[in-house]
Amino acid sequence: MTVEGMSLTEEEVLKRIETAKSKLGGDLIVLAHFYQQDDIVKYADFVGDSLQLARAASKRRDVKYIVFCAVSFMAEMARILCLPEQQVFHPEPQARCPLAEMAAIREVEAAWAMLKKTEKKIIPVVYVNSRADLKAFCGRNNGFVCTSSNAKKAMEYVFSQGAIPFFFPDENLGGNTAHSMGIGDGEMFLWEPDEVPSEKNIEKISDMKVILWKGFCYVHMAFQASHVEAMRKAYGSNMSIIVHPECIPEVVQLSDYVGSTSFIRDTVAKAPSGSQWAIGTEIHFVDRIRRDNPDKLIVPLRDWACREMAKVTPTKLLAVLEGLVEGNPLPGVPVDPETAEYARIALDKMLEIG
Ligand code: SF4
Repeated sequence: MTVEGMSLTEEEVLKRIETAKSKLGGDLIVLAHFYQQDDIVKYADFVGDSLQLARAASKRRDVKYIVFCAVSFMAEMARILCLPEQQVFHPEPQARCPLAEMAAIREVEAAWAMLKKTEKKIIPVVYVNSRADLKAFCGRNNGFVCTSSNAKKAMEYVFSQGAIPFFFPDENLGGNTAHSMGIGDGEMFLWEPDEVPSEKNIEKISDMKVILWKGFCYVHMAFQASHVEAMRKAYGSNMSIIVHPECIPEVVQLSDYVGSTSFIRDTVAKAPSGSQWAIGTEIHFVDRIRRDNPDKLIVPLRDWACREMAKVTPTKLLAVLEGLVEGNPLPGVPVDPETAEYARIALDKMLEIG
């Protein structure tokens, strides 16, 4: 009997997840992003950021079933990297990252056609928070994928090729990474998909070092300079402020540290006992860091959750697991084979670059 349509207590759901997981044993791996709620994370065999999860999914060739608890583009990534005979499931296919939806393939292809007119060497770099067809676009066009952990390496690689990075869809990650390499706002062109640039602008793009796409994460955009200033005022100079690079440049520049979710977690974990931290990223993750570091004062820069990540619930995880136990699986994550082939090229290149 599956959980669909049944009313179960929270305790029953959690107990049944444990039972289903033990029945599936070594055939199953559950992967969860750091931003998932605790009742998902505790059943995960591996918890990580996008890059770590991509690596974990590509290495576990021994399991039959991969259940990916995160937003949909991450589950797609597992589908792309795994063997065709492995089955990949996402407990809530409607959990879609709004940032990933901010660049559609037809818009990127239209931009690419215009950018070719510059006759400059341009390499497309797509942030992992993107749909599979955009990753495939990069695979077809000598480009690759990057994450917030390796965005700087990605840009360095493009520059080492004598090329201009065309970075999409997160303008903040792209802009903050470029700033960290000494590139100023005047050397970056912001591509606005709703406004096709004129021929004159195309000339301007030729002189730019970086081309960014107008897109953002609404969770990280919620952190403002006023939150940093309020934190400094309340706690003084003993408080270190650490934020994710999807935050706006003003916030990044006012903060003490910037880095991926893994960087944030590791930096706080290694900090001396008694140190004080204000963290600017998704609240479930901040709460977990706080619990893992009881010897430190940890506060959120602002209490802000990702609604999409929260759509994956224990009940939905249970439905996937019991479907597998009963031999009646829910639909797997769909990525057509041609898209997967080219997206894999772009992801493999990312894993090579580091
Ligand atoms: S936190 Fe932002 S980037 Fe991450 S899944 Fe949510 S909306 Fe997307």
